[in-house]
Amino acid sequence: MRSRTPDRLCAEAVELARDAAVEAARPGTVGDYLGAVADADRVVTHLFECQEPGYRGWRWAVTVARASRARVVTLDETVLLPGPDAVLAPEWVPWSERLRPGDLGTGDLLPTEADDLRLEPGYSGEDEPPPNSALAGDEPTATDPARIGAVADELGMGRARVLSRLGLHLAAERWEDRFGPRTPMAQAAPASCQTCGFLVPLAGSLRQAFGVCANEYAPADGSVVSFGYGCGGHSEAAVMPRPPKPPAPVIDETRVDDLALRDAGAEPADTEHGETGA
Ligand code: SF4
Repeated sequence: MRSRTPDRLCAEAVELARDAAVEAARPGTVGDYLGAVADADRVVTHLFECQEPGYRGWRWAVTVARASRARVVTLDETVLLPGPDAVLAPEWVPWSERLRPGDLGTGDLLPTEADDLRLEPGYSGEDEPPPNSALAGDEPTATDPARIGAVADELGMGRARVLSRLGLHLAAERWEDRFGPRTPMAQAAPASCQTCGFLVPLAGSLRQAFGVCANEYAPADGSVVSFGYGCGGHSEAAVMPRPPKPPAPVIDETRVDDLALRDAGAEPADTEHGETGA
């Protein structure tokens, strides 16, 4: 194993390295000498403090070298490098990981990878033999590729790729988070979407748990909602007001009420002798 002890002649070429750093840097921004490191045999990098305000902790790294059996040290390269305490930009993140829902603007294109796990091959008819090939039958049958393709198109399957189980699962999770039974709106709703007349069912396996809200006054109008979601716009939520209770009777002192003095079938009283028939 070769030694990493700096080559003596290269290590002594500090002034050559400083001149190179001064030439590359803005005037007055090359600071103290910080040391040298051996990169390889007869290749040494000298480090100088960078005093640029925007580059705190960075260092001018000047690499010098010499050829074998040569005594002349020459300049290799000058570059500004971050030191251990340098202020650095955050780690670069690929665009595919930075992208967030809602970032896609008008006219933007968002290609999906060929191996996107959210998708799987659909029925496109490409695997079927062409009508006149040796593999194709003479008479049209129920399994005729053209017929299968027509039915597949009608069912919405005539696509190169369709949602995989993972894709379905991820979509269901997202929709549950936005318009699911755990949202405050659903918790305060009088009933759930499952019994609401404004719910438009979905097709496919997702119809078991989701539909589209079609109530223009509901916050979820036009969105996929879970059956467990609900809002105050539920079609059966409105309760007809009960008829008001009649007010308490009022004594009317402006008219005379006829009062029966006796029962209708009772004997008339003997008023002449002041006796009653009772
Ligand atoms: S109106 Fe409310 S309860 Fe009815 S489907 Fe829309 S969100 Fe669900």
